[in-house]
Amino acid sequence: MGRRSRARLADGDETSVEVEVVESPNEQRRRFFRRKRVPFRDRERLGHEAPGSILKGPPVTITCECGNKAEVSYGSSWKCDRCGRRYDTAKIPRDQYDKVRNLTLRYRAIPVALGAVSIALAIFFTLTGNVFSVFILLPSVLLVWFMIIRPVHRRSFQKAIADLPTWDLRADGE
Ligand SMILES: [Zn+2]
Repeated sequence: MGRRSRARLADGDETSVEVEVVESPNEQRRRFFRRKRVPFRDRERLGHEAPGSILKGPPVTITCECGNKAEVSYGSSWKCDRCGRRYDTAKIPRDQYDKVRNLTLRYRAIPVALGAVSIALAIFFTLTGNVFSVFILLPSVLLVWFMIIRPVHRRSFQKAIADLPTWDLRADGE
């Protein structure tokens, strides 16, 4: 699929020259992979977690009295850039926050476990000389994951986080 452009000779001659810009196979391959790759920030995440928050725990969403919102990591304080109120998430009881954190870790563990089992099976089939099974196994795992497990998993995760507590943080100095 090259770009086509028409070049007309300078002296007004009707002869037109077709120029086709053909991409080399290398360029085509590069373009293909560039298109497939999803930027990190667009990748799917559970809830609205920031990168690196998987083990640290999910961020705490603060809604300021003025309506401004921010996501900060647990234990850090945040100053509203609109009204200047300060909020300290360290005031949230640790055990309550851990409940949230454990929940997200538990849900995170399901796809990780599925991946680990698939890899183990793939290695097992490869070692037992059953390489052909690997080519059946991996697509089926992906299919089962995307068609069946993931939608259920997401729904139940959404339901579980809806039941979680919210906290009333007082702005500092109020
Ligand atoms: Zn505010």
